[in-house]
Amino acid sequence: MKVPFVDLKEQYMSIKNEIDSAINEVIQNTNFIGGEIVSEFEKSFANLYGAKHCISVANGTDSLYIIMKMLNIGSGDEVITVANSWISSSETISQTGAKPVFVDIDPIYYSINEELIEALINKNTKAIMPVHLHGQVCEMEKIMQLAEKYNLYVIEDCAQSHFSEYKGIRAGLRGIAASFSFYPGKNLGAYGDAGCIITNDSELADKFKMFARHGALKKHFHKIEGINSRLDGIQAAVLSAKLPHILKWTEKRVDHAKTYSEELASESNVIIPTVRPDSLHTFHLYVVRVKDRERLIQYLKQNGIETAIHYPNILPNLEAYNYLKHKPSDFPVANAYQQEILSLPIYPEMTRDMIKFVTNSIKEYYKLK
Ligand SMILES: *Cc1c(COP(=O)(O)O)cnc(C)c1O
Repeated sequence: MKVPFVDLKEQYMSIKNEIDSAINEVIQNTNFIGGEIVSEFEKSFANLYGAKHCISVANGTDSLYIIMKMLNIGSGDEVITVANSWISSSETISQTGAKPVFVDIDPIYYSINEELIEALINKNTKAIMPVHLHGQVCEMEKIMQLAEKYNLYVIEDCAQSHFSEYKGIRAGLRGIAASFSFYPGKNLGAYGDAGCIITNDSELADKFKMFARHGALKKHFHKIEGINSRLDGIQAAVLSAKLPHILKWTEKRVDHAKTYSEELASESNVIIPTVRPDSLHTFHLYVVRVKDRERLIQYLKQNGIETAIHYPNILPNLEAYNYLKHKPSDFPVANAYQQEILSLPIYPEMTRDMIKFVTNSIKEYYKLK
């Protein structure tokens, strides 16, 4: 049996007619940039998500940058984020001129360890950027309390957490603004690069839009210099065609994760993910910790199973951050887990049999060893 890490083709085939006609309509109407197709997607995403505003942008990285620029974060400022994430979280902080300040991960939930944040706050700190990694929401109540106490912005990186919840509130709805990626492999994925910002602050929403559209809300009236970061018509059409299915797809991910965890519970060489109490983990990634990882990866590969590592190097260990001169002991948990984490295949269209094939192969590996 072949089990790919994700299978975007399978999802396309399941809604082929909707996607084909949506793309075709954009081409027929030559609505390549802007227009109703884009504003309709923004409205339906905001509505379904429960946010007042959705501003579409070119990708999830831009959305983080735009949020921080329009909050006047820049040179001399510091933004606190997590040591294990995709580099977008920290590189956008640097792009504004501010300094990324990394925090170790929580040993159980793998997201930012909220207990370690307060010690890093100083007079230059402007914001906290929690990343709801894997689809698991951070301990947002404690993070919001800290932000209130020290008057900081909270910018939520929701690139991996579409429709995740903590205590009945969706990821992205507590902070001043949240960033989403619609990269093809994300839980809601376009057929190219795409992203958006959500916020309930109407004044900020206008600023985000203005900055992303060359500093002009009205064509040729540039109030400031901005950037060019737009969602194109074809991507908006694909996303609109997928949106009616997203909650059902999300449920499937949760189901698949449950099956994985049930099947792997008895395997002592594998540590299964722990879902934060009172939360909906939407499993963009199903991440286990394993012994003897490299050989297990090879064994699974020989059996037709693709896996991945998110991420093989935590951010402070990347060459790009050598200048911060961190030691492994600055992030003991993230450094230790970096050697053990393994992402197993997960996507809505996979079958129970495929999951069992993966879990049986893992168990077989440890028996043979
Ligand atoms: C994917 C991702 C991003 C960036 O999204 P792009 O659309 O690829 O620019 C940012 N943060 C995290 C945690 C991500 O996983």
